[in-house]
Amino acid sequence: MVGNSSFKVGLYIRLSRDDGNIESDSIVSQRSLLNQYVKENNYIVVDEYVDDGFSGTNFDRPSFKRMMKDLELGKINMIITKDMSRLGRDYIGTGELIEKYFPNNNIRYIAINDGIDTFIDNTNNDIAPFKAIMNDMYAKDISKKIKSSLHSRMKDGLYVSGRCPFGYMKDPNNKNHLVINDEQANVVKLIFDLALKGNTYHYIAQELTKRKIKTPASYYNYVWNTKCTNIKCVSQEYGVWVDTTIKAILTNRIYTGDAVQGKTKKINYKLKKTVKNNPDDYIIVENTHEAIIDKSTFNYVQTLLPKNVKRPEKKRFYLLDGLLYCGDCKHRITIRYQNKTGRSYTTCDYYRTYSKYHVCTTHTNNYEVLEKVTLDNIRDVCKKYLDKNKIKESISNIEFVDNSLKIKKQIESLEITNNKLTESLDKTYMDRLKGIIDAEQYLRVSENIKKEMDNNKKNIDSLKNEQIEENKIDNKQIEKYINDFLSLEKPTRELIINLVEKIYIYQDKRVDIIFTFKNVT
Ligand SMILES: [Zn+2]
Repeated sequence: MVGNSSFKVGLYIRLSRDDGNIESDSIVSQRSLLNQYVKENNYIVVDEYVDDGFSGTNFDRPSFKRMMKDLELGKINMIITKDMSRLGRDYIGTGELIEKYFPNNNIRYIAINDGIDTFIDNTNNDIAPFKAIMNDMYAKDISKKIKSSLHSRMKDGLYVSGRCPFGYMKDPNNKNHLVINDEQANVVKLIFDLALKGNTYHYIAQELTKRKIKTPASYYNYVWNTKCTNIKCVSQEYGVWVDTTIKAILTNRIYTGDAVQGKTKKINYKLKKTVKNNPDDYIIVENTHEAIIDKSTFNYVQTLLPKNVKRPEKKRFYLLDGLLYCGDCKHRITIRYQNKTGRSYTTCDYYRTYSKYHVCTTHTNNYEVLEKVTLDNIRDVCKKYLDKNKIKESISNIEFVDNSLKIKKQIESLEITNNKLTESLDKTYMDRLKGIIDAEQYLRVSENIKKEMDNNKKNIDSLKNEQIEENKIDNKQIEKYINDFLSLEKPTRELIINLVEKIYIYQDKRVDIIFTFKNVT
């Protein structure tokens, strides 16, 4: 366009609660629309004016006022908004601006989505405002109705999405109910199995592609494949599994039988674009359909995933990546390669992000040294674990094999003791009431009983924790991991993840390793 560079453009963006259910995200979407428009038309932008959280029903907005001042000073002579309602929802005041103030002061105004340009003299401009008002009110009302009806159906646990999650299909008798698709469900199970073994998304994706297992997309694409002449597209009979698909499946609660909906929402009725909802706003209804993965397996996999992540942007592979935590502030420790020295170093993430607030300290370590020390340490513990088990086994098979039974019996006996103590506490109280003992005697005896009960309760709690630990890991499986670990010069990441839960690094170079199995001391 000719002459566009003679305009000094101000972009005006506004968002408020009374514009409906829009989050601050749409500031971003307004901005991107405006920037795209400006770029396409070669305009020169002088300034951007943003009123976030200000109603359009009046003009008492800081950025709007600043923009009007800049217009008066001649700093800008053109305004662009996404639509007219951004400028104002008070149609009398807005009309005053568009019909009088802008033309009188030779200011050009464009409302992109309403097709308004005050410098182009066509009849469209005259009716556009009214059209826009009517459209606005009508469209908004309809959009709200659809949204709220979908919402209430989701809350009933009805499956309302048009597309089925991989592993399921729609019940032929009820389109809002999911039933298992056996062929796909087996793939979902395989993916969880591979994740349980400590594999990364990337590894699982490659494995599935290698085994020529059809991707979710390859099922849905059937229809367009018949029309698509792109050779690449037609040749993808099985498809290529990508990390994000694996991640989406491994983190989708739908596989436990719960309906999780409302993950995305439309920004507003004018834009087709959807945005991700806050997880707190998901609509979850439990046990609406048959599970493919049981809940405890699913939850366990969720705890593994952060450790299994192999960050794609990182070129270097670190054996201990994702396992390192700051012992002092408990945030993650990151590993970075330093070009200058050709070495990698650790840093406390919390320190790095907020270094100016002195919230933590550097926790700098030469990564290679740290890795060596840590592996030596793990090796030591593993050897001790095996030795101790051997001794235990040779002394008494029974004791070793059923540690969990032993714990269970201990808990039971402590609980019986506490029940008896409660009885004697009652009895002491009755004795006091009957005057058999005096107040002083009563206090002394009852205090003693209470103390003993408290002690027992503490023991029960710690035994119960031990019980959880005990049940978590199968002893035989751990022994296998340990043997594998000890047999390797350089262990694999999968093995490390199976043996180590977290590694705490302290500023004074101390290293604490939390193992997945019960540590031997
Ligand atoms: Zn720290």
